[in-house]
Amino acid sequence: MQTSPGICQRKRRYETREEADAVALSADVILRTYKCALCHKFHLTSRTKGLRVPRPT
Ligand SMILES: [Zn+2]
Repeated sequence: MQTSPGICQRKRRYETREEADAVALSADVILRTYKCALCHKFHLTSRTKGLRVPRPT
């Protein structure tokens, strides 16, 4: 995934994948955790286009 520096600066940063996943699970929308190539920490994204995400029915 491409990450622009601007996005990285604005987004919340998580030290671990576990921490990011916990936040993602508690959110109202489907979020994906990904490791940032710029800061090497974790961000969440709501962009799930092209990714297979099981949606709750
Ligand atoms: Zn970043």
